Amino acid sequence: MTSYTVDRKVPWPVPIWDADTVRLIAQDLGAGAYAVVADTADAQTTQGIPQATSGGFVVGANGVFVIESMMTPALARQVLDLVAATTDAPIRYVGVTSDHGDHFFGNYLMPEQARIVQHQNAFHAIEASGIEPRKQAQIGWFDLGKGIEDVRYRPADLLVPPGGQLSVNLGGGKFVEVLDLGQGQTPGDLWYHDPQAKVLWAGNAFICEKPAIPWLLDGVAKTPARALREIFDRIPEGTRIVPGHGRVTDKEGMRFFVEYTEQLVDRVSKAVSDGMSLEDTRKAVPMREFDAGYPLFEWLHFDINIPCAYREAQQSD
Ligand SMILES: [Zn+2]
Repeated sequence: MTSYTVDRKVPWPVPIWDADTVRLIAQDLGAGAYAVVADTADAQTTQGIPQATSGGFVVGANGVFVIESMMTPALARQVLDLVAATTDAPIRYVGVTSDHGDHFFGNYLMPEQARIVQHQNAFHAIEASGIEPRKQAQIGWFDLGKGIEDVRYRPADLLVPPGGQLSVNLGGGKFVEVLDLGQGQTPGDLWYHDPQAKVLWAGNAFICEKPAIPWLLDGVAKTPARALREIFDRIPEGTRIVPGHGRVTDKEGMRFFVEYTEQLVDRVSKAVSDGMSLEDTRKAVPMREFDAGYPLFEWLHFDINIPCAYREAQQSD
């Protein structure tokens, strides 16, 4: 199963969030680091209302590193405008966190001289599928007439290999680290880190804080559970985290998401080793302590995440 072909009914009206009404704002995180988030993110993230893609940019003496080119032409242009309103420095790099269209479709509107950075696995997945099925999938979630139809494919230039990392020197003591920290959601996830500003960009590997839970659409649960735990334990206190979709948070804001994934794997694995059917596992592992007001909980937990963890546990038996 690939992450861009989801035929299940999402219990949330399409568009999941409306690109036409999204207004992106730049949030100054100090030392040249900025988050780019929807202006609704502060109020709505903790209500569990799905938010537009979050990203950002880092300004150095010689240029700017943008994180996430966004889903539609209009959203990509908002990012360009936010950068231009902040600095005269040119955009030299654009890093994307995965092969999901809402994170990279805007590549083609980024300045020509900018180098696009992506995980090698994400690049190969896009090359293999082509762009069209990905545009159709995004239209399925986010609707026609939002500009997704107009997206043209611009491939990445710099590919980070599995387990690899890249350090980009923006000048004036400003660096951006590009990190493969293991599969959080897709096999092509990248994290971006500004060590000076102590800011970490997560992409969909960490969608946002409580009450959101992960969307385990890639058929694996153990690897994300392990990767998220390792990342969480290594994040120093004082780090700000820009999630894939929502307001800026910190290490504590990530705990709920990490613990849910870990406990899902533990409890479903136990159910499988006890010989339970999928249906019995659904009943035995309701995990209501994590049902904290996310409107997508019922669908994600019972129809996506439990079956994902169940099939994976069965295979490894
Ligand atoms: Zn996303």
